[in-house]
Amino acid sequence: MSQVLNPYGHTIPSYLESDNLGPWGIYLQQVDRVIPYLGDLARWAETLKRPKRILVVDVPIQLDNGTVAHFEGYRVQHNTSRGPGKGGVRFHQDVTLSEVMALSAWMSIKNAAVNVPYGGAKGGVRVDPKTLSRGELERMTRRYTSEIGIIIGPNKDIPAPDVNTNEQIMAWMMDTYSMNEGSTSTGVVTGKPLDLGGSLGRREATGRGVFTVGAEAATHIGLEIDGSKIAVQGFGNVGGIAARLFSQAGALIVAVQDHGGTIYRENGLDVPALLAHVATHGSVAGFPQAEVLADDVFWDVDCDILIPAALEQQITAANAGRIRARMIIEGANGPTTPQADDILKERNVLVLPDVIANAGGVTVSYFEWVQDFSSYFWSEEEINARLVHIMKEAFAGVWHVAQHHKVSLRTATFIVACKRILHARELRGLYP
Ligand code: GLU
Repeated sequence: MSQVLNPYGHTIPSYLESDNLGPWGIYLQQVDRVIPYLGDLARWAETLKRPKRILVVDVPIQLDNGTVAHFEGYRVQHNTSRGPGKGGVRFHQDVTLSEVMALSAWMSIKNAAVNVPYGGAKGGVRVDPKTLSRGELERMTRRYTSEIGIIIGPNKDIPAPDVNTNEQIMAWMMDTYSMNEGSTSTGVVTGKPLDLGGSLGRREATGRGVFTVGAEAATHIGLEIDGSKIAVQGFGNVGGIAARLFSQAGALIVAVQDHGGTIYRENGLDVPALLAHVATHGSVAGFPQAEVLADDVFWDVDCDILIPAALEQQITAANAGRIRARMIIEGANGPTTPQADDILKERNVLVLPDVIANAGGVTVSYFEWVQDFSSYFWSEEEINARLVHIMKEAFAGVWHVAQHHKVSLRTATFIVACKRILHARELRGLYP
């Protein structure tokens, strides 16, 4: 069967038709770069350019003042050829459909890259959770979960934490789904609290994966972690943990930027003190033992490693030429645009792409899901050892493909992942 678009030649879904496709447009460019390396499987490539299923929901809740507010929610299942959909849920005022589509597709690539038996999915609600009371946040989470309840499930699609969502939100999601089903279903979400079927090591897993892949790559380019200088953007669950692990390995965390501002200390920030400051103040702003930098100056900081661990499209054609790091480890999803990728490649800056570098979170989500199914829980040592093993093996495979084809690590990861997805697609065949 030869691959076609559709009878009318439409390549872009009508719901996104615009000159600027946003993050989805970036993802499409990344896929296009890989198609020449897919051999015969390229005939199925159109599958990768269309999400399997998109659900847009209205999320009305009663606010504490008695009025009703409506929020827009999404769940996108990009691909389920290799297994159920899997990916986080984010709460952010700037969430868009294009963004959730791209994030769901990056989950398909990521899950295939580390070879966990999932497709890709993502969800989001266009809301700033900081403006909601705890009661409002719970009602919003529960109504959203109930609305997407028709397409999620332990064997269908398994949400998890992402930007501005955490263990408590996963507990409410698990409870809401379970109430609607009439039975406790722990495996419907991962990233849950330990007492509700959560896994040891899950909270640190993304940061630990960032560190593991970063340390592996550093050996390939002769960069010593001990004594290296690191700048980190985003100091939440990913950036904060990665900073802690790198500083424990002897690196100096010289600059940190988050939504509250940018701080700098040439001899390295006191990471445990900074983590404690962020836990109480919600941001790095106001941390006493540091200089304050203008936000844009962050990109000029003298460092060996840069870790973007916040939101998409931070490293662009406008600042890629200024970055002084030798290596960029993408803790965030989609932080680098394709134009910036080209500039960095030209400048010999090694980019460890999101789809492998931040895959530690979903890898331990997979362990959590397996533990929930068997109701048998593993030790933290076992979880961390398995995580490190999977990350190292996946990274070695991607490194080899990058050398072989003389392509970037992003393109190499896409090659490995797209082949796995499309091979599964081909084996399953087209129904009916
Ligand atoms: N939100 C995380 C990510 O972007 C984790 C997803 C998961 O555990 O399902 O990879």
